[in-house]
Amino acid sequence: MVATLEALAREASNCTRCPLSGGRTTVVFGVGDPSADLVFVGEGPGREEDLRGEPFVGRSGALLDRLVWEEIGLTRDRFYIANTVKCRPPANRDPLPAEVAACRPYLEAQLELIDPKVIVTLGNFATKLLLDTAEGITKLRGRTYTYRQSTLVPTFHPAAVLRGGGEPMAKMRADLIRAKEALEAA
Ligand code: URA
Repeated sequence: MVATLEALAREASNCTRCPLSGGRTTVVFGVGDPSADLVFVGEGPGREEDLRGEPFVGRSGALLDRLVWEEIGLTRDRFYIANTVKCRPPANRDPLPAEVAACRPYLEAQLELIDPKVIVTLGNFATKLLLDTAEGITKLRGRTYTYRQSTLVPTFHPAAVLRGGGEPMAKMRADLIRAKEALEAA
């Protein structure tokens, strides 16, 4: 495995392991504190993210930043954000199983290098991948799990909260409080 997150990002920036590489502007590797205690894992870059090379810079990202600030008291430079796939799927479609599988070693290496106390998975793709299950997020959220040495807290994707309103928002807040408690206990 590569020794640093920077070296891994350099390797990923030339990646052609799956067809998503053909349609990308930028590889959206991840952003934040490389030794963060808290890591969020989303699904994949959208249009804005593809253009800017940073995860969660659109409306979903603004909601994520706001909820993390309100419930955990951290700003973006104090945690890390990565995605399940690092290149934008065309027209923001769901990533295909082969694309998730091709990108998986990058996410796993990121998590190994950062070695966070707590991982919050945002939505189905990240949660199913890291928990190695076919169960959906609605069933999985509401409790914590163990991923290697980290506590894993599954929650809804912020885009789903933007669509769904009050109830998923309240549940996402509760999950973030669960993440904060796990951080404090670690
Ligand atoms: N949604 C994601 O899952 N990741 C991003 O980077 C942006 C939106």
